[in-house]
Amino acid sequence: MVNIDKYAGFCFGVTKAITSAENELSKFGSACCLGKIVHNQKEESRLEKQGLRTIDKDEMFANPPSRMLVRAHGEPPSTYADAKRLGITVVDETCPVVLKLQELIAQKYNNENDCQIVIFGKKGHAEVNGLVGQTDGKAIVISSVEEAESLNIDGKIALFSQTTADYLLFSKVADVLKSKNARVEVHETVCGSVKNRIPRLQEFCRMHESIVFVTDEASSNGRMLYEVCRSTNPKSYFVTDVADLQEEWFVGCNDVGISGANSTPSWLLEDVRNRCSEILKSDNNED
Ligand code: SF4
Repeated sequence: MVNIDKYAGFCFGVTKAITSAENELSKFGSACCLGKIVHNQKEESRLEKQGLRTIDKDEMFANPPSRMLVRAHGEPPSTYADAKRLGITVVDETCPVVLKLQELIAQKYNNENDCQIVIFGKKGHAEVNGLVGQTDGKAIVISSVEEAESLNIDGKIALFSQTTADYLLFSKVADVLKSKNARVEVHETVCGSVKNRIPRLQEFCRMHESIVFVTDEASSNGRMLYEVCRSTNPKSYFVTDVADLQEEWFVGCNDVGISGANSTPSWLLEDVRNRCSEILKSDNNED
């Protein structure tokens, strides 16, 4: 038996951005996105074959497209100002959850001059860059408990989290900062579709003998969720594609659960499910 986790696959923010890219492609025959539209190489390639081009900031300046998608991670205000100056029409697909967090941080920054904004997230990640951009680059980004321990700020702190951050780690970071400074305001801003997935994924992992987790190396959400699988079910395997599946993983196994990150396309989950079913079937026939 091979089952796909019903909660695996694109969240609504990613679905919205990809639907918009597909609409652009069907209207104009090609489309351009600033940064990878989704942290999944297979889905990227599928869209590239249909005419999607991914550009970076340098390319945007060197050869400005007429229309440009902003992906679900969002962008700092400077990107919109540059695009306007360059005459680019922006198709803004910033996820509404990220947009709300950007607004929250901008409000805090603009209204409370004495408050240092700290963001718990991955340095250099597109979403984090967009959040830091709301503060004219003044927010401090920390990624670990150790960094929280070495942070010394006397005044007021407002702590936020990247939407895809590990919320358990965030709570440890918040505790460390609070133990050092009585004026820490904690805003736990992990996205519901990431947070709710953890208990659901743990339940799914307990229900199956083996777990195959499908994601991309570049997906922070994927790596975090895979760790959840591994700590719940030691027979968990990380794959990016059907080709990574190894037959010896399933010797004597009759029940495999397939799950994936918020950036894993459903067609890829189905491909992996089909290949696992073939492996299980051939193993049983050999017996
Ligand atoms: S994980 Fe949440 S915040 Fe990020 S794109 Fe998906 S819905 Fe939006």
